[in-house]
Amino acid sequence: MWTLEVQATFSAAHFLPNHPKCGDMHGHNYTVCVVVAANGLDWSGMMIDFGTLKALVQDAIGAWDHRCLNELAEFKDTPPTAEIMASLVFMKLRRRTSDWQEIWIQSVAIEETPGCIATYYGDTIHGEVKDVQPRA
Ligand SMILES: [Zn+2]
Repeated sequence: MWTLEVQATFSAAHFLPNHPKCGDMHGHNYTVCVVVAANGLDWSGMMIDFGTLKALVQDAIGAWDHRCLNELAEFKDTPPTAEIMASLVFMKLRRRTSDWQEIWIQSVAIEETPGCIATYYGDTIHGEVKDVQPRA
């Protein structure tokens, strides 16, 4: 199996209601890391062109750049944590690559601050995302 990873960055503001440290609005320079995997390569010896994948990732996060995440519809019912953001990017990418035959989205990681990373590997918890509440 091969994996291929691209990273993209964006800046956004958010706040996490009732969180002792993150309850007030503040900003992050986020890095999103997307890993795709395949068991085979195409005729050119590639899994997918880096530029093609990067464009998909940029498109998936474009609406978040320089925005307050809490004000966006997709965070209306869920707190904009790195965990939730990773799962949302994963689902967006999976929808947009539903025609892929032999490549799959393996994981999406969101680095909120250097060294603090949340990674989502699949949709097994997606049905529970709306129930996620910050712990007191
Ligand atoms: Zn924060």
